[in-house]
Parts: sequence; structure tokens; C-alpha cells
Amino acid sequence: MNAGRPTPLWPGRPRPLPGETFSSWFSRTAWSNGLTPNELYGVAANGAQIHSRDLDRLAERPLLIRLSAATGISADILADAMVTRWAGHLYDTEERHIRLPWLPSVGTERTRPSFGQQFCPLCLGEDAAPYFRLGWRLYFVTACRRHRVYLSDRCPSCDEPIQPLKTIRTRIDLECHRCGSSLMAAPAAPAEDFFTQARLLSATGQDEIDLPGYGPIQQPLFFELVLRLLRLVAGGSFARPLRAELAESADELSQLAAIPIRADPYQFEPRQRHLLIALAARMLDDWPHRFHATCEAAGVSRWQLERTSRSPMTLLKKDHRGEKQQPNIAMISPN
Ligand SMILES: [Zn+2]
Ligand SMILES: [Zn+2]
Repeated sequence: MNAGRPTPLWPGRPRPLPGETFSSWFSRTAWSNGLTPNELYGVAANGAQIHSRDLDRLAERPLLIRLSAATGISADILADAMVTRWAGHLYDTEERHIRLPWLPSVGTERTRPSFGQQFCPLCLGEDAAPYFRLGWRLYFVTACRRHRVYLSDRCPSCDEPIQPLKTIRTRIDLECHRCGSSLMAAPAAPAEDFFTQARLLSATGQDEIDLPGYGPIQQPLFFELVLRLLRLVAGGSFARPLRAELAESADELSQLAAIPIRADPYQFEPRQRHLLIALAARMLDDWPHRFHATCEAAGVSRWQLERTSRSPMTLLKKDHRGEKQQPNIAMISPN
């Protein structure tokens, strides 16, 4: 910006839509000015390249202020559309180079595909201008409550992870940047049982979470605990017996048998994750008694659990009720 001279407003200045991510708004702003998101980034960031940067996490204040000056939209509104709005709630770390718990990156993480931007194809189909919602970035959000279908997290034709800043935008559609398929053509399989998703979403809005049977614990600690429980049913040698013990019906058991065992809990599709997270959350009941009973019935001893660096037991071993707790960095770094 030139001192004393106001930045001219850009011709295209779309307002952020309800619940829209920063990068989705940035992309719409670019296209409404006849530019690609990469070209607009060059204009707004003094010629810098956007590469595969996850702007919903990494856009810095000077960029937001520059965009605010050129669009008339407050920098605070733009910041609130980023995943960093959950800092101090879902996570405590300021580290820029580690994976945030429950908020995997978009596109790639190191060299592996990362499916951090999900979407509901039916919501996109209803939008006058299709856009990505911030809530779809949360890894424990696996289904659309409005349409009661599982979310998608990749191109329906070529399985490419969704990258909002590369997605091709037409007037009424969003298309895969790699193969051109419409994201609205993604399958929308019926989903049921929204209990766990609603429970975790509600926890994002509370300073302390009441753990039944235990008492209140700080938000980031609660989300770390659920993540550790998810890891136990997702991968490792305890996953199969724990899944069998936690399944509540023969149908659930057969669905679980089809879900692979994976050490990286961030590689499950929404439908698989939906069930695994529900299983993990069941162990929170009457903490830690249900957890201990489940482990015992599954043949997993306390001694074995204590030996795993990410044991839920070691996390709450001290009395952390109401106490600020730093997360275990090793736990949330990419695998
Ligand atoms: Zn929907
Ligand atoms: Zn594709």
C-alpha cells in the first residue's frame, strides 16, 4: 500500500458466504476479477507464488490487511474463515510445520496425499455459487447433517485430493483440477447416527469439556484424548480386538472388518472415519472405566498400553482437570 493513498478497490469483491473458508472466498474473488487464484496471490503478495500453500492455515496478517483494503471486507472476518480460529481450542501449538490435530492439510502433506478439504456434493449442487465450508475441514466432521449423507474428500473420478485454490470454478460448478470431473457428481451415500459428530462439534465451543466419570478437562486435551483413542482403533496391534469389543451389532462388525488397519489415522475416507470415531468416543464413557474394561475384554493389558507413547492413559495420568496442557508434539507431527 502507498502511504497516504488508499488502495483502489478491486472490481470483483464477493462477500464471504455463510461458513465459507478463506481460500474458497479467495478463489471466488480471483475468478470474479478475471484472474486465477495464483495470479491474484501474486498481486496481493508482491509477486509471490502460492504453490500448494494451505491458505486457510498459513495466510498471514499482512496479506489479510492487503485483501481487506482491496475488497472492503474486514481482515478479522477473513481471519475468522481460517482454521486458525480453532487455535487454543482444538490445539495449542503455534508450530507451522506440523500437522494440526483434526485439521489435516489440503492437497499434500510432505509427499503424501492429504484429504483436508471435504465437501458435500448435494450442498454444492444447491449453492448459487458453489463454495467450501470451514466446517468441512474438521476431520471429525464426516457427514452433512442437512442432507444426511457422507461427505466426500476427493475427486469422484481420479481420487485427487481437493485443493480449493486449484479447483476449476465455472459459473455453477466446481471441477477437479486434474481431470475436470464435477465435484457435484461425487457419490452421496446415506449417513446415520450423528451423535459423535454433534458431540465433538459442540465441544469446539466449550472452554472445558466434562468427561463423564472424570470431570472437566481443557479443550485441546479433550481433542487429543479422542485422537489417541482413534489411533488405537485405527491402527496398531490393538485395533482388531478393540474394534471387535466395541462393535454394537453384527452389521457394525462386518463394516469394521472392511476398514483397513492403518497407522496413520488421517488416511481414512469419511465413511470409514465416521464409524472409527464413534467407536473411539464410546471409550470416553465413564472415563476411564469403560476404557479399561474394553481393553481388558480385548486382551490388551495396561502394561502393553503404557508402553505405547501415545497411550490415552499417560495423557491423563496426572490430574489435568482445569489445567493448561501443552500437546505432545510428537503425537501430532505427520507420520
Ligand atoms: Zn449437504
Ligand atoms: Zn479428478
